[in-house]
Amino acid sequence: MAVTLQHIRAARGRICGKVERTPTVLSQSLSNRAGHPVYLKLEHHQTTGAFKLRGASNAIAVLSPEQRSRGVVAASTGNHGRALAHAAKLEGMRAVICMSKLVPQNKLAAIRDLGAEVRIVGNSQDDAQQEVDRLVKEEGLVMLPPFDHPEIIAGQGTLGLEIMAQVPDAAAVLVPLSGGGLAAGVAEAVKGISPGTKVIGISMERGAAMKASLDAGHPVQVEELPTLADSLGGGIGLDNRLTFTMCRNLLDDVVLLTEDEIAAGIRHAYAQEREIVEGAGAMGIAALLAGKAKVGGPTVLILSGRNIDMDLHRRIVCGELTAKESAA
Ligand SMILES: *Cc1c(COP(=O)(O)O)cnc(C)c1O
Repeated sequence: MAVTLQHIRAARGRICGKVERTPTVLSQSLSNRAGHPVYLKLEHHQTTGAFKLRGASNAIAVLSPEQRSRGVVAASTGNHGRALAHAAKLEGMRAVICMSKLVPQNKLAAIRDLGAEVRIVGNSQDDAQQEVDRLVKEEGLVMLPPFDHPEIIAGQGTLGLEIMAQVPDAAAVLVPLSGGGLAAGVAEAVKGISPGTKVIGISMERGAAMKASLDAGHPVQVEELPTLADSLGGGIGLDNRLTFTMCRNLLDDVVLLTEDEIAAGIRHAYAQEREIVEGAGAMGIAALLAGKAKVGGPTVLILSGRNIDMDLHRRIVCGELTAKESAA
């Protein structure tokens, strides 16, 4: 099933009132530097702190009453888990989020606080996924994956509709890229409305699975490495059904950033823009500062999330991160 502009417009209707329509603001400092207007889409101010609430809310909205009565399940330690927990609670539905024993206590607590049941199983993401499969089979829960799902992609694409309404003359949109649900949805919306607008994906050098897959011409696995852009970690799935093809067909370029460049993006967001963003949310700013995304016209950067450990954030903005940590 392909995701079209029509699907994305339908998603916008469904999630209206359940997610925030976030502002897009001009960045004076980045505009001065670039020599053209640069806008920040402040999606890190979204409820639950990241755009993933859009996809989760849309995927939940299309469930049948019978599926709703059974509830939803996913393996996630991060923003997708938070989004599902929040969206399910809003609908009075059960949500189960599976994680391995390695998940830090603060991430676990964040998802539990949003009202989800948390299952701790095994020592890896694979073990957590096995528990998801078991819950689907034995308890009939509905699995909602973080990116490779038509309604998730359509929900994330609503960001693209808002961007084109807020900056109709955008020459380019810079999108943080991991599994590609965000990039695929945004690119479908942006190019559906304005075919000449470029959409550029930004990943970290350390473990860029979509970039490696696009280069290989098919989904490939890459080693997962620690990175400041932790929300961008993980693979795209060797059996990827939608996002690989959409990213291949729709993205104009994919840019890779070093850990130092990502740290500089987080620092700039804080010191110049007065915004607290996580690594993934700083990718657009970081790419511009590094001179790796030259577009020459009005550019929109998606600040995709803000869920960063605040002690890590403090050390980054104070320049206290050790060389070892910033290489890690
Ligand atoms: C999930 C996530 C991304 C990447 O989205 P994909 O659809 O996996 O490419 C970017 N930024 C943040 C904050 C995220 O949580």
